[in-house]
Amino acid sequence: MKKVYVLTTGGTIAMSEDEATGTVRPVDGQALARFLPGVAKYADVVMEEVFNLPSPHLTFFHLQQLLNRVQERLAEPEVAGVVVTHGTDTLEETAFYLDLQLPPGKPVVVTGAMRSSNEIGADGPLNLLNSVRTAASEVAVGKGVLVVLNDEIHGARFVTKTHTSNVATFQSPEVGPIGSLDKRSIHFRQMPLQHESYPAKPLQRSVGLLKMALAIDSRLIDHMLADGIDGLVIEALGQGNVPPAVVPGIRRAIEKGVPVVLVSRCFNGRVQDVYGYEGGGKHLRELGAIFSNGLNGQKARIKLMVLLANDLDMESIRSAFERI
Ligand code: ASP
Repeated sequence: MKKVYVLTTGGTIAMSEDEATGTVRPVDGQALARFLPGVAKYADVVMEEVFNLPSPHLTFFHLQQLLNRVQERLAEPEVAGVVVTHGTDTLEETAFYLDLQLPPGKPVVVTGAMRSSNEIGADGPLNLLNSVRTAASEVAVGKGVLVVLNDEIHGARFVTKTHTSNVATFQSPEVGPIGSLDKRSIHFRQMPLQHESYPAKPLQRSVGLLKMALAIDSRLIDHMLADGIDGLVIEALGQGNVPPAVVPGIRRAIEKGVPVVLVSRCFNGRVQDVYGYEGGGKHLRELGAIFSNGLNGQKARIKLMVLLANDLDMESIRSAFERI
């Protein structure tokens, strides 16, 4: 049997519902271990706790701690793959971070659950089982970090949490899942065409994330600049446009040498220099904004942190966002 490590980090998959109050929290450290007998027939599974936290509590220190453990376990020659169990709220950020730091090789699968371990219809046991099957599978080799929930396999680059409570929450809006599982088999239908990885360095720089909306102005950007941010991701409107009152803030950031990365608040499509009016994409490109291709705001922020940790200059950051 193939050996698979399950590295646990917390989240709803490891929590239970308190019947008296109806609240969900980490009451019982054994919640996940109880699922193990169900997966034992698919692989030789070793479960290890890295930490046990709700995913909104994670810091960049935790991401690095997790990356180190994943790398250590992947380096063991007899290991076929690694599963990471994780809270769903920030799962896509952790999965993309691991994807940016690990060259494609043995499968690394990130999973979680929308319902805690003792709730009716708990999805954790099946998500764990499907993730172990995927991590042990030869066809999953070389496809980058995968996210497996609800019988679907998604690439870390495109997957996002789309619903607050539905078990079908994880979707890859533009490209769809790259594969799926049923009781008997695992099917991959597409191979991710893009992959990038960078040397792992401590993520110590600070990157702001700001969503655009009607009539927003530059005040928050100016606060962030005064606070000494090292980079800024802007979730722009549509194809990459901002209200005119945001332009002075973007100009000041770029003049200070702070990279400004544009993504769209739409979760399909690209940002580009189409609109020539004040604050339109063409104007922002002329000012020196960097256009990110298809990443959402939270993932562009992770990527910018990784690039800054590697001391890339403005033009190298631009090319890292615009070439892929
Ligand atoms: N709030 C939880 C977390 O991210 C949600 C979940 O795991 O589904 O830890």
